[in-house]
Order: sequence, then structure tokens, then C-alpha cells
Amino acid sequence: MTRAEIVVDLDAVRHNVRTLRELCGVTMITVVKADAYGHGLLPVARAAREAGADWLAVATLDEVRALRVDGYTGPLLTWLTVPGEHYDDAIRADVDLTAYSVAELDEIAAAATHVGVPARVQLKVDTGLNRGGASRSDWTPFLERARAGEEAGHWRVTGIWSHLACADQPDHPANDAQQAAFDDALALASSLGLEPDLRHLANSAAAILRPQARYDAVRVGLATYGLDPAPGVDHRTDLRAAMTVRAELALVKQLEAGDAISYGHTWTAPERTTIGLVPAGYAEGVPVAGSNRLEVAVDGKRRAVRGRVCMDQVLVDLGGDTPPAGTEVVLFGPPGEGRATAQDWAEACGTINYEIVTRIGGRMSRRYTGVRA
Ligand SMILES: *Cc1c(COP(=O)(O)O)cnc(C)c1O
Repeated sequence: MTRAEIVVDLDAVRHNVRTLRELCGVTMITVVKADAYGHGLLPVARAAREAGADWLAVATLDEVRALRVDGYTGPLLTWLTVPGEHYDDAIRADVDLTAYSVAELDEIAAAATHVGVPARVQLKVDTGLNRGGASRSDWTPFLERARAGEEAGHWRVTGIWSHLACADQPDHPANDAQQAAFDDALALASSLGLEPDLRHLANSAAAILRPQARYDAVRVGLATYGLDPAPGVDHRTDLRAAMTVRAELALVKQLEAGDAISYGHTWTAPERTTIGLVPAGYAEGVPVAGSNRLEVAVDGKRRAVRGRVCMDQVLVDLGGDTPPAGTEVVLFGPPGEGRATAQDWAEACGTINYEIVTRIGGRMSRRYTGVRA
């Protein structure tokens, strides 16, 4: 008996890391932020390393701590901090911090002085995403401060990087513009005496679709989990979805024509039918936006979610069939056997596959297959 669970296939993660690393032919930075996109930070991090991931990357220092506490001592990049952040432990633990500004470099310098060892710092330049990173008008003072701090022994600048806005649209003009800007930033850094080991620009979509954006390394998140970072763009990369979300039917009941179901009575049975109760709802990350739109597989057959998604449960139309309570429901997973995919769910809900897998969870348990002893 398993009410509702997430099953993560670590063999699929390993396969994806190997495939992507081979495809790109450069240093693989596997992105495991946000609990490995909902797949579980530590098991995924271990599997990725087993398959050859050269680096791991996360967003926050909390995530850094979790990996280091688990005993991971290898190369690790992080990129999201706020003023007053406690850098000391990360510096002691040889973590690559990312700086976005002179102010942040000043804080890192103070922490490195306090700790008494040089930090490792990567510099993020904003090339047009207009999110994190130093804006073009600040590049010169930012890179000069980085070089001065290196000369003062506060840190070694180990990388320079940026992030693309439209990598999932390979023909979008922003890609060429951002890459040209990145090359300008690299030239400026070099002219100021910075010689970082790693220059990187590509996320999953660019790693797959834009070979010229691979530089020394790629930062691959989504594709690691076997999901398509550019749905609708033909690339045929051999990826395997790692996540299957499954539950067991809690109850099956008969509806008469005209019976309306769930909150707000948003769906009315047009004819006599049966419905099944699936014990997972928006508290588990099943989007309310998927009400009357999502599909799931019940005993290998595609079935429609009817009525509003509730906090703990959703209802599916069984079309008059009466599978017993306890019958397996696959909410989404790898394609095949009637299953919907995370991408199908994203399309049904007007969102992206990233959000579907990252938010799924709540009270569901997680189980791993392909675990190595
Ligand atoms: C999340 C993130 C990535 C990974 O992006 P994917 O599209 O999942 O491959 C890479 N770089 C940065 C800065 C990110 O925030």
C-alpha cells in the first residue's frame, strides 16, 4: 500500500548526465538546486557524480551546506546571496561563490580576511537577461575590483559566467546578442589580467542546441532529469525522464448523468459514469490550474481529471470502468503505458515542466530506484 509517492530513477539520472557530458564535450556542471528540481538533492547529487558530473551547482548557501554535510567535497558552485550573508563556512569548504557586484566582493573580501584563507570567486556578468549579475555599465569597476582582490590575496577568480534569457528559442536574436556581450566581458576581464579557469554561459537548452555557447563548461539542470528544456524544438537528445509520480485509487464510485462533482460543481457527468478518487491534491503540488484539464494513467489507461483539484485529492473519470480501490494511478512519468508526462501537465496548466517537477511533493514519500550500494 502506497498512498502517493514520487519514484526517482537514478539510472535515468546517470544516463542523462553521461549522455549530456558526451554530447557537450566540456566540463559538466550539474545543477541540483531546489532539491534537485524536486527529485531529492543528495541521492541525485551522488548519482550525478557517479555518472561523471565534474561540478555540482546550487543557488543558495543552505543548499551548499547540505551537500558539504553529506560529505561532498568536490567542486561546487553557488550563485544567490543577500547582503549580510555568512560566507565563512563556504570559504572554508572551498565553495565557488558567485559575485554580482562590487558590494558583494567587498563582503567576500571581509569574510576571506576573517577566515584567513583565500576564497574562490566566480564573476557573473549580466549580458541581457537583466536578472542577476553585474550590469554592462558596471563591468569595468566590478572586474577591476575582482582583479584587485585577487592581487590582494582575498580570492582566486575561478570563473566568469552569464545566463541566457531565450536559450529554449534557438532562433531568438537575444542568443547571439548575449553571446556577443559575453565575449566582450571576457575580453575586458582578460585585458584587466583576469584568467579564470571556467567561462560558462549555457543552461540545458543552450548546452544541447547551441554548441558555440558551450565554452569551458555547461550548467545543466533540467535535462539531467530527462525533461526537455526546449519543447517543440527538434533535437532528439536521448534523455530519460527520472521522475514518476504514482498513487493508488482510494475509492471508485458510480455517477448518474447530471451529477456534478468536487468544489464549485465545475464538471457535471453528461452520462452515467464512474469516478476514481486519487489521494493527492494541490498540497502535493497538483496544480489547481489543472482542474478539468489534467490527465493521468489508471491501470495503464489515460483518464481525465474532472472537477476542481482539491487540497488532498483529485477525481478522475473512469468512463464506467470499475477498477478496484488500490489500483495504480500514474499522475505523470516517462512516456509510455498511457502515462502523461510532466510536459503534458505543464501544457495543461499553462506552465513549464520545470515548475511541475519542482513543486510536486507535499506529503508524498520519495523512493529511489537504481541506488548503488
Ligand atoms: C537554474 C539555472 C541553471 C540550470 O538551468 P536549466 O535550464 O535547468 O538547465 C543554470 N544556470 C543558472 C544561473 C540557473 O539559475
